[in-house]
Amino acid sequence: MKGALKSSYFSDYLKPSQIIFNLKAKDKIQALEELLDALVKQKLIKNKKLILTRIIDRERLESTALGHNVALPHARVDTEGDMAVAVGKSEKGIGFDSLDNKKVHLIILIIWNPSLPGLFNHLFAGLAKFLRRSGFRQRLFGAKSKSELYEVLSEIALSFPQEDKIISRASLLMKLQEIQMKKKKAKKEKLKHLKEQSSLIRQELDEALVDRFDRLMERYGFAVAEVDGGVCQGCNINVATGLGSAIEGSNDIYICENCGKFLVASNKRKK
Ligand SMILES: [Zn+2]
Repeated sequence: MKGALKSSYFSDYLKPSQIIFNLKAKDKIQALEELLDALVKQKLIKNKKLILTRIIDRERLESTALGHNVALPHARVDTEGDMAVAVGKSEKGIGFDSLDNKKVHLIILIIWNPSLPGLFNHLFAGLAKFLRRSGFRQRLFGAKSKSELYEVLSEIALSFPQEDKIISRASLLMKLQEIQMKKKKAKKEKLKHLKEQSSLIRQELDEALVDRFDRLMERYGFAVAEVDGGVCQGCNINVATGLGSAIEGSNDIYICENCGKFLVASNKRKK
């Protein structure tokens, strides 16, 4: 699978016709529908209703509003091609249940084919890397026309995350751990729901990441450890200098050099 991926640009998946410069939508569902309609019009997707349901299921698990007025809603559906992407900009902003409670002004919708999980991770990592730069976001929000917005978006290069620092969603991994622990004690009814949530998360994380997670869970009973005061709570040993502060305020996944567990900042739970 990895061999099939090469470095590319976001614009390989995005044409100007997949951008809505001024979303009419006033809420989250309307915005998603507006973007899906654009994809239907471009013949990039067919089953709008099913896809909308999938996106909403995913949003219920955890809002895809990453903060800083940007959201990356996504769904895993059998599509015609590998990937269908749409971008919408909203002047007034749209409520998206974001972690920082800010309205969303830019929505990047990604519909991805289940046969290509690597491609989704590749794309997501590239987008996250650019969108976390405030200067880049300012240029996106400041674009005066659709073509200007397209030009800025076209700069997004998709590269591979480094091995020790996987640009992904640590919060998702933490959630997966919580679900796995609840599953042990859950009754039949609740178990079904937990299994659904678990598979939803597993589908969008890198296969190697999930394998490692399962191995750690089996061996230690937990796979994700918090870093508190520069100390890994999984093994009580200081993490490398600089790593502690890098983890702080980041949603990337780091790995403890000593015990091998995934590391997250200790304030992640108290949001
Ligand atoms: Zn450790």
